[in-house]
Amino acid sequence: MGFRTDQIHAGTEPDPTTGSILPPIYQSTTFVQESIESYMAKGYSYSRAGNPTVAAFEKRIAALEGGTAATAYGSGMAATVAVMLALLDAGAHCVVSDVVYGGTHRFATQVMTRFGVEFSFVDTSDPANVERALRPETRLVFTETPANPTLKLTDLAAVSAVTREAGIPHAVDNTFLTPYYQRPLELGADLVIHSTTKYLDGHNATLGGAVVVADPELDTKLRFVQKSAGLIMSPQVAWLTLQGTKTLSERMDRQSANAMEIARYLEDHPKVARVGYPGLPSHPQHDLARRQQKGFGAMVWFELTGGLEAGKRLMNSVRLWSLAENLGSVESLITHPVTMTHGDMSPAEREAVGITDGLVRLSVGLEDPEDLIDDLDRALAQV
Ligand SMILES: *Cc1c(COP(=O)(O)O)cnc(C)c1O
Repeated sequence: MGFRTDQIHAGTEPDPTTGSILPPIYQSTTFVQESIESYMAKGYSYSRAGNPTVAAFEKRIAALEGGTAATAYGSGMAATVAVMLALLDAGAHCVVSDVVYGGTHRFATQVMTRFGVEFSFVDTSDPANVERALRPETRLVFTETPANPTLKLTDLAAVSAVTREAGIPHAVDNTFLTPYYQRPLELGADLVIHSTTKYLDGHNATLGGAVVVADPELDTKLRFVQKSAGLIMSPQVAWLTLQGTKTLSERMDRQSANAMEIARYLEDHPKVARVGYPGLPSHPQHDLARRQQKGFGAMVWFELTGGLEAGKRLMNSVRLWSLAENLGSVESLITHPVTMTHGDMSPAEREAVGITDGLVRLSVGLEDPEDLIDDLDRALAQV
């Protein structure tokens, strides 16, 4: 079936006992067994190990990514944690994109290292850097594209060619584009990670995560960690995320069109020094974006000529844009990474990855673009 059909129907069917078009929320801890002999005959025992509503969402996200199986988690970070726990033993080495979600960096450097796992953070926008970073004990290559917040891209087919050759699994955090715009498994990756909190839910209502794979053996390892560490998504969240995915393509297309309009407006603004959006020909990897992605997404950054003070004033002047740290929802959000999400990094670390004092990140929502631009215009006049 096509993507738009799958996003509505994959994984669910009308409830056979009542005809309810939406699946029930199986809000149950345990599942009663008819006899010892038929233990697990219906597939479920205890909701930490599996739940029918969660399984429905797992089937849907697997179908959308073109994988064979998926596991769902209580947050995007729990999904990343599951991948690292499943694949990295003491003494193992892992290569990670240098610009990566802050929580991924924190978990790798401040938790996994305590168990004797080593990490190399490299600029994966050049696949040669990945090849150079590999060691005999490398067990995972972990990329994120477009990366947060600079929107640097990684060529997934090129990096997958390197990892295939070396026999090392390649995991891709596909949160920013979703399977509607980018399908890493088709480009040769082995695992796809999502924070479903973002576009897949799309309504600022939940925290969740997922990992999709093509190889059932990887799924078995992940499912073991999901159950053993207690990382599984809750049935309520699975149900809400099943509703969110139904409009994914429509939201992505509309929000990306809004983002393009806003990026063009910002490029012409005298108080804006630079705009980062993969859909603009000025983006250094615009050609790669056209080749690897079906759309450009709805994340935009820009740099104010006025630096830190201008950034703070802009944050305090917007009205329609919400000053908030999520992304991917229908509500438009604005953040100032230096004073908000990336305040823990030293100025030198921030400079190394291109997070400047005047950098502003936009998660463009589904409102009327004229209203979003009017609000920015009014706020920019005050910085
Ligand atoms: C938000 C996010 C995560 C973490 O997801 P949570 O659901 O907040 O735990 C991981 N990767 C990316 C790219 C994200 O944007």
